[in-house]
Amino acid sequence: MARLRRVNKAQKDWKCRAGHKIAKGSPYVWYQKAYQARQTFCPEHVPSRSEYGTNSPYISAAWAIEDGFDFTDLEADEVSDQLNDAAAAIRDEIVEPLNESAQNMVDGFGHETYQSEELVERSQAFEDWAQELESAAGSIDPDDWDEESVMADLPGSPE
Ligand SMILES: [Zn+2]
Repeated sequence: MARLRRVNKAQKDWKCRAGHKIAKGSPYVWYQKAYQARQTFCPEHVPSRSEYGTNSPYISAAWAIEDGFDFTDLEADEVSDQLNDAAAAIRDEIVEPLNESAQNMVDGFGHETYQSEELVERSQAFEDWAQELESAAGSIDPDDWDEESVMADLPGSPE
């Protein structure tokens, strides 16, 4: 699994995958997959998630939910609805399936295992994320908010 990392000020020159130089001091984005070289991009040539993606269906679902956030031209209550819907989707698509997998393992083995515990932990991390989104939804002040800061303050999905 690789995630994009953003750097505001490059400490040295990098090369964008699109073929041009990223000068020291400018922003860039990078990811690195296990056993592979670091891939660097300028902000204009950031790759799509499918390119640096993940094998986990749960992480994919989380990224799809995150990518779906779009608060353009919405009212505050519509933004809240979107965040609450996202929290519901996280529970349906990620938290519950993870808990079910954990339970199936426990039923199969007759006891908890390292893997079932790990699934429960991951499920809890996603549940926490859903709750953070709900709390963000509840804290939007209808009289004083803007898309950009709401977007910037949203908690990111768990790894
Ligand atoms: Zn570029």
